[in-house]
Amino acid sequence: SASADPSATNAVLVAPHTEIGAPVVRITALRKSFGELEVLKGIDLDVMRGEVVAVIGKSGSGKSTLLRCINGLEVFQQGSLVVDGKPLLHESALAMRELRQRVGMIFQSFNLFPHLSVGRNVMLAPRLVKKRKAEENEARARQLLERVGLAEKFDAMPDQLSGGQQQRVAIARALAMDPAVMLCDEITSALDPELVGEVLRVVESLAEEGMTLLMVTHEMGFARKVADRVIFMHQGRVHESGTPEAIFGAPQTPELKQFLSSLH
Ligand code: ADP
Ligand code: MG
Repeated sequence: SASADPSATNAVLVAPHTEIGAPVVRITALRKSFGELEVLKGIDLDVMRGEVVAVIGKSGSGKSTLLRCINGLEVFQQGSLVVDGKPLLHESALAMRELRQRVGMIFQSFNLFPHLSVGRNVMLAPRLVKKRKAEENEARARQLLERVGLAEKFDAMPDQLSGGQQQRVAIARALAMDPAVMLCDEITSALDPELVGEVLRVVESLAEEGMTLLMVTHEMGFARKVADRVIFMHQGRVHESGTPEAIFGAPQTPELKQFLSSLH
């Protein structure tokens, strides 16, 4: 259990599937095409346990496709992808199911099940996939909703919530599966500006508590503050990577310099 791990500061959230020092995600020479269009042109990327990696880059550079490959939503043509010590094999339905249990993903659109209450949204996958007992499942769902500041919304329906609240439910729902890594794809892009902060604060707290995070974000201030490492993608490649200080403070390539100046 999580409590056995001294590095897990919050046993509620951190599922230490992977050994300390081992990559939770290991991507090697990954190539992905849609027909003739090669979108990922050989990606190498390791995400270590507890690491927060921000992915930045222009629209169309392949950021979402990379995340979608990692949780098995896209089939890739070449290279290898190992998540939590297990290779991703599209040929095996069982392996794919196991993969989806180890990878949490949060999207720009919150994707809550509209006909299910907030509590049921959080409880559904653990009940169906993990066969978690009803009582334990509900207790955990309540705990996670409290964690994202929505304890009182257990019985509310998604359409009664603000966008920021719905996104926080989506985070609680992803956490309910005890993912080894959480993938976030521009999770604040669809929110009204005044709701962005509440979602980022939850993500920041996850980062502080040791969750492994790979997040595509337009929030450069947030990336700078929270990320251990920043990856700049350009035309399907990791064009530049480094600490936030290096990437934002001393960009090396003309492409990154241009991207950063285009943001102002
Ligand atoms: P980003 O998230 O960085 O904006 P994407 O990964 O969404 O980039 O897209 C990268 C490229 O792949 C774009 O040229 C996009 O049009 C193309 N692409 C993405 N998904 C598909 C798809 N399902 N079919 C065909 N082309 C796609
Ligand atoms: Mg995208």
